[in-house]
Amino acid sequence: MKKNIKTIAIVGGGPCGCALATLLNRKGFKVAVFYIAKRPEIIVGESLVPAIVPMLRELGIEDEVKSYSTYKPGASVWVSKDEEATSPFAIGGGALPSYAYNVPRVKFDKTLFDLALREGVQFFEQVAKIEKTGKGDELKLSDDTISGINDFFKGQPDLIVDASGRSRTISRLLDIPTKAGERRDIALFSHMTGTEKIEPYNIHLHRLEKGWAWRIPHLDRTSVGVVIHPKHLEEYGSTKEERYDNYLKSEPTLQKFTGKGKRETSVMQYDNYQLISQQMYGTNWVLTGDAGGFLDPIFSSGLFLAIKGAFRLSQIIGDGTNPDYKRYQKEQLRELEVWQRLVDTWYDGSLFTLFKVGQDRMDTALGRFLGPQFQKHLTRIFSGEAVYVGYSRRFLNFVTGSMLSLMKVGRLHNRDIKDLEIK
Ligand SMILES: Cc1cc2nc3c(=O)[nH]c(=O)nc-3n(C[C@H](O)[C@H](O)[C@H](O)COP(=O)(O)OP(=O)(O)OC[C@H]3O[C@@H](n4cnc5c(N)ncnc54)[C@H](O)[C@@H]3O)c2cc1C
Repeated sequence: MKKNIKTIAIVGGGPCGCALATLLNRKGFKVAVFYIAKRPEIIVGESLVPAIVPMLRELGIEDEVKSYSTYKPGASVWVSKDEEATSPFAIGGGALPSYAYNVPRVKFDKTLFDLALREGVQFFEQVAKIEKTGKGDELKLSDDTISGINDFFKGQPDLIVDASGRSRTISRLLDIPTKAGERRDIALFSHMTGTEKIEPYNIHLHRLEKGWAWRIPHLDRTSVGVVIHPKHLEEYGSTKEERYDNYLKSEPTLQKFTGKGKRETSVMQYDNYQLISQQMYGTNWVLTGDAGGFLDPIFSSGLFLAIKGAFRLSQIIGDGTNPDYKRYQKEQLRELEVWQRLVDTWYDGSLFTLFKVGQDRMDTALGRFLGPQFQKHLTRIFSGEAVYVGYSRRFLNFVTGSMLSLMKVGRLHNRDIKDLEIK
């Protein structure tokens, strides 16, 4: 990694790019963000975890976010249409706030964009084109891109940060090896009115026969998303709207909660796979946010990880040496890996199995001992804390792994969800 970095081009004006731009600008770097103004009508990534709140405070935007968001005190998981397990964040204890927010993403992204703009970051509404210079893995902005910004950097920037999200601009250009998760699902989502009221404003996650669904309460609407393997989709129609509407109608759980609802937006589709770049930096470039790696959305970790990556990176850009970037890469990869292990417990059925076992054995000494422990540490998955507290990690590993095996309990609830995996 080059030394003496003073000028930085950030590719992508999403939450990660804007947070990083603000932090670097506060440190006196010359920063420009390339962004695409046209946004979809609605964007996924609407439910925050408590672990993000301290960063919103440090950026100075919590009050603004609060003004248009719903207050999220916990998460509710539905094993079937009638069986719910609610985890209020307060039960998790620990060091984090006992709440988070459900945010309309377009507004949330604008808050971060406006903050950077207000603080003096230069934005260019332009798709940044990046090219190889031919010297090792060194990169440059294309001549078109440089002339489009009126030679803002007086030549090339010292550093190019890829915060382009799932476009993964640099990873694709350099063909960086990736680690793909096992999921190949599709997410379809829209905003609805008239659906079953959600009070308090927890995120609700539903295990379904052919995948899973979320309901996220906003002030005037509910975000309803379904995650399903593409092989099941064709039977529901040919357009994404038909597929979404028909799937909602055909699923008893979704009928129960959204049957009286009206779709207020078009349907957005996301290829919801899991992909992590195995190299996060090079001679004059670095990856962050989803551009470095993204996970399945089940535990709402995306925005937290994206903004945390921005904070982590902002601490080393400038004086950082090779070992600092190496540590950055190691920490990013490790964090994604630990989150991935938690995500796997959803899909391999162990979380549901534990829930059922807990209910069945609540009257035994073991059940009475483990019940509250399990609820506390499970809640920490939803708050974001489980990844960072060694004891929670070990406890969850134990109960979802060895303990279930020792108890000789078959994975009770995994058949259909497992069926969605492509090995
Ligand atoms: C189905 C689904 C549900 C999710 N639910 C949640 C959730 O509930 N909670 C949560 O926290 N996260 C969730 N996420 C994840 C979350 O949306 C992402 O982690 C988050 O958006 C990452 O932010 P980012 O800034 O890294 O990337 P992005 O938000 O993707 O921003 C990248 C930006 O870069 C721009 N860009 C790309 N290429 C260029 C270029 N060459 N030049 C200029 N600009 C460019 C793009 O237009 C985009 O605006 C979900 C994801 C999916 C797929």
